Amino acid sequence: MIQLVPMLIGASLPVIRHLAFKDLVDRLPKGAGSYKTRRLSDIKTLVLHHSSDPNGDPFSYAAFHTRPELSGGRGWPGIGYHYIIQPNGVIYKCNRHRTISYHVKNGNSDKLGICFTGNFNVDHPTQAQIIAGKFLLNYLRLTIPSVKHIGVHRDYTNTSCPGDNFSIDMVI
Ligand SMILES: [Zn+2]
Repeated sequence: MIQLVPMLIGASLPVIRHLAFKDLVDRLPKGAGSYKTRRLSDIKTLVLHHSSDPNGDPFSYAAFHTRPELSGGRGWPGIGYHYIIQPNGVIYKCNRHRTISYHVKNGNSDKLGICFTGNFNVDHPTQAQIIAGKFLLNYLRLTIPSVKHIGVHRDYTNTSCPGDNFSIDMVI
């Protein structure tokens, strides 16, 4: 069953219109081809993921996503996620919002992907990640007014992502 959390803009959340993050959009490895793009107003849903790899970072995920399939990668034009939140709470921007990158099978055109580094089938998100996640989600809801829902990867496809120990109410 698809579970979508209704937006509660302004409800007991700080107003964050400027968020500190490290912009890696033009620094990460690229693969063959290029992702399609969209209007900002096409974005309806923020989707939360975990990385499965507790020791990964934007560069390692980008390397895996862009490596050719014959070499064990995904063969994608670029990293799949729009944002990555590390266990220390640092937020990395990895794709422009208009980029239709790949992070939910057959459903990326209206979705923006946020990945928390960790394997939350085993571990739990850190307090720093939870706080950073709340700030990032609030920032995105305020700066992309077309966003109507927040979901987790398993709402949309057959996966355990973002793990048994992660639930959406931890970060909204
Ligand atoms: Zn996922």
